[in-house]
Amino acid sequence: MSSPRTPRETRSPGLEPLAVLPVFVTLQGKRAVLAGAGGGAAWKAKLLAAAGAQVDVYAPDPTEEMRAAPAEAVAGRIVLHARDWSPADLAGAALAIAAQEDEGACACFVAAARQAGAIVNAVDRPHLCDVSFGAIVNRSPLVVGISTEGAAPVFGQTVRARIEAMLPSGFKAWVAAARDWRAAVSARYHAFAERRAFWERFADRAFAEPDRAPTRADLDELTREADAGPRGGAVVLVGAGPGDAELLTLKALRALRSADVILYDDLVAPEILDYARREARTMLVGKTGHGPSCRQDDINALMVSLARSGKRVVRLKSGDPLVFGRAGEEIDACRAAGVPVSVVPGVTAAQGAAASLCLSLTHRDAARRLQYVTGHDRRGALPDDLNWAALGDSSVTTVIYMPKRTLGALLARAIAEGLRPDTPALAVFNATRPDQAVLRGSATSLAEAIAASGIAGPAIVMVGDAVGRGAEALIAEAVAGFPVGPEAGREPRSLSG
Ligand code: SAH
Repeated sequence: MSSPRTPRETRSPGLEPLAVLPVFVTLQGKRAVLAGAGGGAAWKAKLLAAAGAQVDVYAPDPTEEMRAAPAEAVAGRIVLHARDWSPADLAGAALAIAAQEDEGACACFVAAARQAGAIVNAVDRPHLCDVSFGAIVNRSPLVVGISTEGAAPVFGQTVRARIEAMLPSGFKAWVAAARDWRAAVSARYHAFAERRAFWERFADRAFAEPDRAPTRADLDELTREADAGPRGGAVVLVGAGPGDAELLTLKALRALRSADVILYDDLVAPEILDYARREARTMLVGKTGHGPSCRQDDINALMVSLARSGKRVVRLKSGDPLVFGRAGEEIDACRAAGVPVSVVPGVTAAQGAAASLCLSLTHRDAARRLQYVTGHDRRGALPDDLNWAALGDSSVTTVIYMPKRTLGALLARAIAEGLRPDTPALAVFNATRPDQAVLRGSATSLAEAIAASGIAGPAIVMVGDAVGRGAEALIAEAVAGFPVGPEAGREPRSLSG
């Protein structure tokens, strides 16, 4: 036996390199100068005016669109001078945009603008730019900017559309209210933690009722709640799913976003932790099944003490927390300590694997029943209290979790109890992850095939005639040239055993 582990704090790795640094420029009441009237110049003039700048456009030969721009902006914000620029025009400019057709003319303007202390952008000439414009999602004062550094503008637009859809237009009113209330809230709550508690409640409310404009009554109510003291701690058992982060539920996402501390298992895919708040503490309380593990009592005690100190604790478990996750013990520990506890379900490994293979676990002709069993007892040995009669039934789909060490013995005994030796069986390794792999065989052959394959990672085994039908479809698909697996374009290893 390896020695037990203790829970340990994990740090997110340092920042990944950034192609550009997003910064937000305040232009209210400042001066902007735009030279030329090339493609996109009129739109940029209007953008600067919308951001509060006083915009002077110098264009000897303005386009139709540019001529119309002053009338489309707030009165007087855009002034069009139908002549070339001169160095004196740049005095006091905070931002300057070169939009001439001619490269040399652009470069000349850029040099003069820099000399005058302005930040410079040149339309469609990244090599001349200090700053570039991204795609914008406007819920002002909430503003989202998106850049692909020119690599994929259309992709950027698609991302923008997604974010547009995610941010209700009502957020505009909520963030505006936050701006209006900010001074009063800061004056009332001197301690950082109190202010933070107020604003967290505010954000929760905005997310809960995004399309209702906040009122004075909201401010009063939020203040009353915040005055009542800090929110008590609580524990949420959250299902992280089998790996693919897209399988997280919206509730899981929200729980991760509001957690102060996240206690997670080794089997939780690292990408999932990216959804946590940056300030959240993350702790690996790993239980691998094979390597060293933290003691369940230590995990329970840690969870309870963190919650008692007022923390919102997410206990993040792979798959569904209520399937072979010892959730019962954790829930009992919370209840015994008087700590509020709740559960957010997740996609269990069997469901993730079946979906990735388009495999129906039940079938009107082949499987009227579905059973999940574990291949491990407390000591890691084959449990002797499994229902062997049920495992001997070929017309059931059986999914075996933690199958690896005991599969040979388990299936041999099931066969002795009546399972047809040629009952189809599948092993799915790393289900829904990029390295998903599938091994096909029968109740007789699969255990050896797994041992011989040397494939690493968590695996489940599925046995039953319904699995066979699915496996046939799998082969047919592969033969037809379709990629098989969780993502198109990627073929999992599919070996016969
Ligand atoms: N609560 C989890 C199960 C935890 S027990 C769930 O609902 O999925 C751990 C076992 O789950 C592993 O030994 C393995 O059998 C299975 N498992 C977890 N993630 C898996 C994955 N991505 N692919 C295959 N099996 C997985």
